[in-house]
Amino acid sequence: MISSPPAAPRTVLVVGGSLLGACTAWALRRRGHRVQLLDPGGHGSGSGGGGSRAALGVLMGQVFHRSSGRGWRLRQRSLTLWQDWIRELEGRGRRVPHRAGLLLLAADAAEEGRLRGLALERQARGFRLELWEPQRLGDLEPSLPAGARVGLFSPLDGQLDPAAAISAFLADGLAAGVEACADRAVGLEPLTSGGWRVRRAAGDPLEADWVVVTGGIDALPLLEPLGFHQPLEPVLGQALELELPTERPVPDHGPAAAPWPGVVAWRGCNLIPRPDLPGGRRLWLGATLEPGIRPDPAQLEALRHLHGDAPAWLARARVLRQWQGIRPRPVGRPAPLLELLAPGLLLATGHYRNGVLLAPASAEWVVEQVEQA
Ligand SMILES: Cc1cc2nc3c(=O)[nH]c(=O)nc-3n(C[C@H](O)[C@H](O)[C@H](O)COP(=O)(O)OP(=O)(O)OC[C@H]3O[C@@H](n4cnc5c(N)ncnc54)[C@H](O)[C@@H]3O)c2cc1C
Repeated sequence: MISSPPAAPRTVLVVGGSLLGACTAWALRRRGHRVQLLDPGGHGSGSGGGGSRAALGVLMGQVFHRSSGRGWRLRQRSLTLWQDWIRELEGRGRRVPHRAGLLLLAADAAEEGRLRGLALERQARGFRLELWEPQRLGDLEPSLPAGARVGLFSPLDGQLDPAAAISAFLADGLAAGVEACADRAVGLEPLTSGGWRVRRAAGDPLEADWVVVTGGIDALPLLEPLGFHQPLEPVLGQALELELPTERPVPDHGPAAAPWPGVVAWRGCNLIPRPDLPGGRRLWLGATLEPGIRPDPAQLEALRHLHGDAPAWLARARVLRQWQGIRPRPVGRPAPLLELLAPGLLLATGHYRNGVLLAPASAEWVVEQVEQA
């Protein structure tokens, strides 16, 4: 964890200006470093088929299946940092729509046993997790998939709008002095005096004490000539924005229906209420996992109907928008890849399904590397 200001501000060039790059550039500038941010899409448009703007923004940290190790620590730290950094950004008028709460549903006996065990274990350690039994699940409106056996409710997990988060980090970073260049990095060379030279597709080369490579699979060709071969494979994700039918479904029982407490996760599908979007009845739905980069219409159809478990209201919902993006998955290595490749050269990528969740902890790791050297 970073506390005192850095002794010596450094020059840092961040390659890739989508969520990881924008968040990292912001965090470095906030510590007083001179930061240049390079992305061909200019201010982080994610033009390289990037995942950040396709992401649903679900923050699934507390319900992670493990309770120790690097993955757990990064998740815990990121949840804390998201709370602090959203507060800081919003304090300066940079809005990041977000909502706390996540309800993870069990669809079969094995999953029910796992969630019951997880709840007991986490509650014994002081975490705020609740088990919701079928009667309470039945009181929710709109209705949940009929086969839900139990729900694990986590008030500290939730969801944020990834595109708004990128815009907020960029706008705040630029106002604080981050220099953004709309260009592609095409080559990296170590300088004999220390530091790195970064060749660009269009502009003159840039030099910096440190280079941080975010940018996912598209940025790997930069590293290969230097002998760094990173095992990343593309995994496609598809998503939908739906408008819910206007008639209110009648709950099966109970005096008064309660709204969903946040994101609902069912058999790997995430259902995200977006009452903040126009009309107040929108829902994001996503999470298909498909190897490669071509979307499969059959997978999208299965998602649309929750693999056959969709309640009637969901089947009637109108599709307003459909999109897809690429997740970079490390092969044979745990996600994410946070590595010091050479003196002054950092890699922060391969976040696979949790790049939004893990962006702040990854950015903090970069700051620590730069300041501890
Ligand atoms: C459908 C979908 C849903 C998802 N849902 C979630 C979710 O709910 N929660 C969650 O935590 N995560 C989610 N993810 C994962 C998350 O989106 C990714 O892990 C994360 O966005 C990766 O961010 P990034 O900044 O590393 O990469 P990207 O967003 O892929 O951006 C890479 C950037 O690098 C730039 N770039 C590449 N090469 C170069 C170069 N040579 N020079 C300069 N710039 C370069 C590109 O132009 C691009 O802007 C989802 C992903 C998808 C596809």
